[in-house]
This record gives sequence, C-alpha cells and structure tokens, in this order.
Amino acid sequence: MRFFDYIDGELCAETVPLRAIAEAVGTPTYVYSKATLEHHYNVLKAALHGLDINIAFAIKANSNAAVIATLATMGAGADTVSEGEILRAMRAGVPSNRIVFSGVGKTKRELEFAIKTEIHQINVESEQELITIAEIANNLGKVQNVVIRVNPDVEAGGHSKIATGYATSKFGVSPATAFAMFENAKQLSGVKICGLAVHIGSQIIDIAPMRAAYEALALMVQQLRLSGHAITRLDLGGGLGAIYDDKGEGPDLEAYGQMVREIIGPLGVKIEIEPGRLICANAGVLLARALVTKANGGREFVVIDAAMNDLLRPAFYDAYHQILAVKEPPIGANLMPITVVGPICETGDTFTVDRPMAKVNPDDLLAFMSAGAYGFAMASTYNSRPLAAEVMVSGDKWQVVRARQSYEDMWQGEVIPNWG
Ligand SMILES: *Cc1c(COP(=O)(O)O)cnc(C)c1O
Repeated sequence: MRFFDYIDGELCAETVPLRAIAEAVGTPTYVYSKATLEHHYNVLKAALHGLDINIAFAIKANSNAAVIATLATMGAGADTVSEGEILRAMRAGVPSNRIVFSGVGKTKRELEFAIKTEIHQINVESEQELITIAEIANNLGKVQNVVIRVNPDVEAGGHSKIATGYATSKFGVSPATAFAMFENAKQLSGVKICGLAVHIGSQIIDIAPMRAAYEALALMVQQLRLSGHAITRLDLGGGLGAIYDDKGEGPDLEAYGQMVREIIGPLGVKIEIEPGRLICANAGVLLARALVTKANGGREFVVIDAAMNDLLRPAFYDAYHQILAVKEPPIGANLMPITVVGPICETGDTFTVDRPMAKVNPDDLLAFMSAGAYGFAMASTYNSRPLAAEVMVSGDKWQVVRARQSYEDMWQGEVIPNWG
C-alpha cells in the first residue's frame, strides 16, 4: 500500500504533485508520505492485536527526524544500532524506555551511553559483550536489562548480503552459548538477562522461516525455564518485507500476527518487534531528473541526476525499483528498452538495464518508487555530490524535512595541514 498515484496525469505524493516539489526544491530529492508511514504502522499493529508488544522502528532503515517523529507520535519505540541512532531517536521524541540497542559490535563508549540513558534493553551478541556491560553498569551503580541474540540457524532474506540467521553468520550466538551465558550471568552483577532476541534477515516475504526461528525461540524459553531462568521478554526482530514490484506481494501480516499469537503468545512474555523496511519502504520515492539521453552500441541510455550515492540499493543488492515517469505517459504509449544510469564514474552506477519504458526525454522527471527504506539512510557524498534533500508530504501540505546539503557542510571539518 502506498499513497503515490497519478492524479490528472501527474504523479502525486498523497495529493501533492511531485513536479511541484521538484520545481521548488530541485532534484534529486526524497519524498515521504506521512499517511503511508501511519498506514503501515497501523496495519502491523492491528495484525499483532492481543499481544503485549512494543513496535520498535528500526532507525537504520530511515533515520530522518520527521519519519521517526511521525512514528514516535503513534507510540512506536526505536531499534537502534549505534549511539548516533539512540540520539536521533530521542531527539525525535522516542522515550528512552522504548529504545532497544542492537548490533554485533558496540563500543564501550556506546554501551556506557546506553546504560546511563536507561534505555529499555541492550541486545547482546557475544559473551564478551555481556561481561563488558556488567562491568560498565557496575561502575555506574546500575543494573542493565539485556536479552541475548541467538542465531536459530535458519536461512531467510531476499539477498545474501541481508541474510543474518544462518549458523556461520557474524550475528548473535548459538543456542548452546546462550545457555552458558544465562548460567554465567548468575555470577555477574550489573546485568539482568530478561530473555532472547532473533533477527534472521531482511526483505522476508514468506513467513515460514520466521515461524521456524520463533519455534526455536519458544523451545529455548521452555528449556531455560526448566533450568530455573526467568524469561520475561522476547525480541522477534525485524525483517518483514515490502513490495517493490507492482505485481509483487508483501508478507501476509494477518498470518504473521496469528503465528506470533500461536507460538509466542502462550509464553506470557513482553514482546519486542523491530520492523524497518515494512514501515517505510513504500512510504518514500526518490525524485530525479533526466539529464541526457544517448544510444551506445544500440542500447538506449537515460542519464539522470541521481546516482548510486543517493540510492545504493540497485548497485549494492541488485535491487529492483519501479521507475515511474512523473508526467503520466499516454495510454498505449510505445515501450522501449531503456537503461537508466547515474552520472558517477562507475559502471555499477546503473539503476536498470533494458527495462521496457515509455520514451524519456531530457528534463523529464522520474520517480524511483519504494525508496523510503535504506535509501537516504545509505546515501554518501561519493563523487563530492551533496546529500539529497528530503521532503515529507501530509495530505495537500509538504515541508522540506532535511535541506539539501550545502558544499560548506560537505567539507566542514576538513583541514589542509600547514606543515611549516
Ligand atoms: C536491520 C535490522 C532490523 C530491521 O530490518 P528490516 O528488514 O528493515 O525490518 C531489525 N533488527 C535488527 C537487529 C536489524 O539489524
């Protein structure tokens, strides 16, 4: 579901023509729909009815303050993977007691900050980390709530770079190590292990691997309880997929909710879920303008003003994004194979090859659909290209929610040494 459609031949975000935004703000620009964010959050929340659950939005998918604030207002927490993300979440209005700190490598400084900030929990990914947390918390005179991220050894996710739940991945610990950590923690003051976490991958459409992971979790909970450990929390991770193809299907959220009620519900624990992509992917588009068209060796190229530094997913994950002309092509317009590329000096800076599209002319506006997750969040200034602007639309209103980066901001902090 998304709120980007043609109205009178013009592609709109809710009811705002994207052309108007491009004319006012320039391109490339990310445009987010507030109603789409709210819709996805509400649909997920409804599907999870009857459970004691905190929906912690995974900040890494889209860390714009307006996006986080929209979700925070609706009651969302935040799943964070760095001190920067914790700060972003709090700055945008997420209360610290709804913040979860995940990640396979946290620095001592980050752990100390998280413990001082009294966030909801730290998801621990190694035995060493547990000991470090205990030491830091002890020194601060605090007891930190943690859960142990286990690796249930299931394969899931749309691409090898985003599968995280197989036994030899860098994430989490084996069930055997988790048991040992529960035992060892009896000797540790400064930490309280409240439960377990899993996160098996991203862009998961078929919920069967999630069921397998949750069944493994439930089994571990029973075994841990038999050994006398109190298990009060489970973190079910993120990973639910989004629809990128207009013919594609998303995960069946009703079935997902039913599955969680069936497998996790009876355990009587507080549940955390960490969706990123599901909430924000379809809530954003990247607006770009065609610069030149040319034919090389019989291939039709359209060179646009957005590049892999703005939207990395096609180059990095071979990801598909639907590309729509902002001015609706006439019905029955001839389609021709078009290769859409950015201006960066790398062949990898290619968004699509030989895709059947209506003819694109220089200055035409194009919209990369479903670019709201891992879009701006993965942008860089490669080729000294300033970070794109970000805009949020609500109904017929819109606002710049992050100004396009200026050149001064881009080289701020750089110093030419004076060796004299
Ligand atoms: C990336 C990540 C998420 C969010 O993943 P999505 O696929 O965007 O839902 C959630 N939890 C953890 C631990 C992550 O690393």
